[in-house]
Amino acid sequence: MARLVLIQGDITKQKVDAIVNAANTSLQGGGGVDGAIHDAGGPSILEACKEILKDKGGKIKTGEAVITTAGKLPAKFVIHTAGPVWKGGGKGESKHLADCYRNSMFLAHERVLKTIAFPNISTGVYGFPKAQAAEIAIGIVRSLLEEEEAYNIEEVRFVCFDEENFKLYRQRMKGEMVDCG
Ligand code: ADP
Repeated sequence: MARLVLIQGDITKQKVDAIVNAANTSLQGGGGVDGAIHDAGGPSILEACKEILKDKGGKIKTGEAVITTAGKLPAKFVIHTAGPVWKGGGKGESKHLADCYRNSMFLAHERVLKTIAFPNISTGVYGFPKAQAAEIAIGIVRSLLEEEEAYNIEEVRFVCFDEENFKLYRQRMKGEMVDCG
């Protein structure tokens, strides 16, 4: 069984096979974690995103995940996934958020990657309620780790940037490894 690890910190500093970017459908970079990843990784990440979009009519779908170089980051790859914008909960937001985690995990598995780090997708400017997002993220990742489609993955890190998310994850991951580094 793979390890689940909780960290409070900056995802751009994680030395893992893939970090996940809470991107938008146009993969153009932006604020928050997306901006931090592009700033720290350099222009090769945006170049790779543009190449991918050529085959996709300029946008990825909400919940979809694609993979690029990680440029200058310590991680090997960046998996970009478009999180849902919170619109009150009746527009399939929960399913779309679970899709982000599921599709990122499948992509990592497909590339035979062993370690993957997730930020708290959609809980910043996209406004997804943090407690509900934490339930979905931990729940889907736990269940995926028992499926064949993710068996290459040995470690999943939840990297919480803000204190509120960190506390919500810590409550839900009691008994699992907690690393505050
Ligand atoms: P979204 O548009 O998906 O809401 P944001 O980037 O606004 O994306 O926020 C998503 C989460 O990423 C928030 O919980 C925010 O605290 C967190 N975040 C911001 N910067 C970083 C970072 N450098 N590393 C990890 N998480 C980050």
